[in-house]
Amino acid sequence: MTTRNWRPQTALVHAGTLRSQFGETSEAMFLTQGYVYDTAESAEARFKGEEPGFIYSRYANPTVDMFEKRMCALEGAEDARATASGMAAVSAALLCSLKAGDHVVAARALFGSCRWVVETLMPRYGIETSLVDGTKMDAWQDAVRPNTKLFFLESPTNPTLEVIDIAAVAKIANAIGARLVVDNVFATPLQQKPLELGAHVVVYSATKHIDGQGRCLGGVILSDKEWIDKNLHDYFRHTGPSLSPFNAWVMLKGLETLAVRVRQQTESAAKIADFLAERTGVGKVIYPGRADHPQADIIRRQMKGGSTLICFDVSAGKGAAFGLENALEIIKISNNLGDSKSLITHPATTTHKNLTDDARAELGISPGTLRLSVGLEDADDLIEDLDRALTAAG
Ligand SMILES: *Cc1c(COP(=O)(O)O)cnc(C)c1O
Repeated sequence: MTTRNWRPQTALVHAGTLRSQFGETSEAMFLTQGYVYDTAESAEARFKGEEPGFIYSRYANPTVDMFEKRMCALEGAEDARATASGMAAVSAALLCSLKAGDHVVAARALFGSCRWVVETLMPRYGIETSLVDGTKMDAWQDAVRPNTKLFFLESPTNPTLEVIDIAAVAKIANAIGARLVVDNVFATPLQQKPLELGAHVVVYSATKHIDGQGRCLGGVILSDKEWIDKNLHDYFRHTGPSLSPFNAWVMLKGLETLAVRVRQQTESAAKIADFLAERTGVGKVIYPGRADHPQADIIRRQMKGGSTLICFDVSAGKGAAFGLENALEIIKISNNLGDSKSLITHPATTTHKNLTDDARAELGISPGTLRLSVGLEDADDLIEDLDRALTAAG
């Protein structure tokens, strides 16, 4: 099937579909671990890579294959591997090409588990790591060592929605022959295209906007075919972070509505961010669609839309932030994001509780900081919910 000229919305509905002999309209769910061969010769040929076909679902599965191909069409990537979670994607994408003695530079504003992989896990295996302020290009450059092999960043960042100039970091990486891996979860594949900006590998937690309805965990790694063949292929087959066919099927169905959901959630988020920015009792509001975002000029160059997430400070601190959360009726307290249900979290006591006070301050997380993931409810109901809860919180 040719998908070359399809616009994203069309690719999201049709790309990668593998129709069985029954001609089903909706993607089939192939819940099978293995595959049978007509002859011993056919099994031999398949293991030699001389005959196309599936061998074992840890390697590849038709439903998972459809999800990978659809993600490739959307991202403009040559190849992909789907994983059981976003963290399986991040850790495989980072570790598959590294060995003891290599050096990694990463932006310090990372999703908590990503930061643990870089800061704690990698050094255990003799991989040197440096964490830098990702918004400062000098910091990336200064961190480079003769053995630097990999750069890693997330943009916009969690939870403070800081935006990193991906093209500028890619340029520094290219100058020394290092690879840049971008965790593109917060932007979604619709609002930012890291590969077009010069990144070499893109990773997603499909758990977030791709599922979009809070059901399954999943992830995906996308890159050029050569990088995947050389680095990820064997690592993936033999360590087994594979996505289950059931979850891949849920993700495929999620992709069909991704563009519609993200567009609606972004539109609502922009309206809610404007409301919060004017509301008494609310301090700093960070929203990638607003002109007052600290990296508004980079956002104009590198992103297509705003975001489905808003970060804001309740001026009176932790007690008032908790009071707001507890007074909400529609918006739920949860650390997840990208869901059709609006979710709010207090990073300092949940997702970022393991950091020191200083490390949190460095990332711009204060005791009153809240992160809101805007869902598919009516924006005016969400505004009323926030307004009522802010009043109740004092
Ligand atoms: C959620 C998330 C992950 C981890 O994904 P899981 O599916 O929960 O394993 C990684 N990076 C970012 C930015 C995330 O938001």
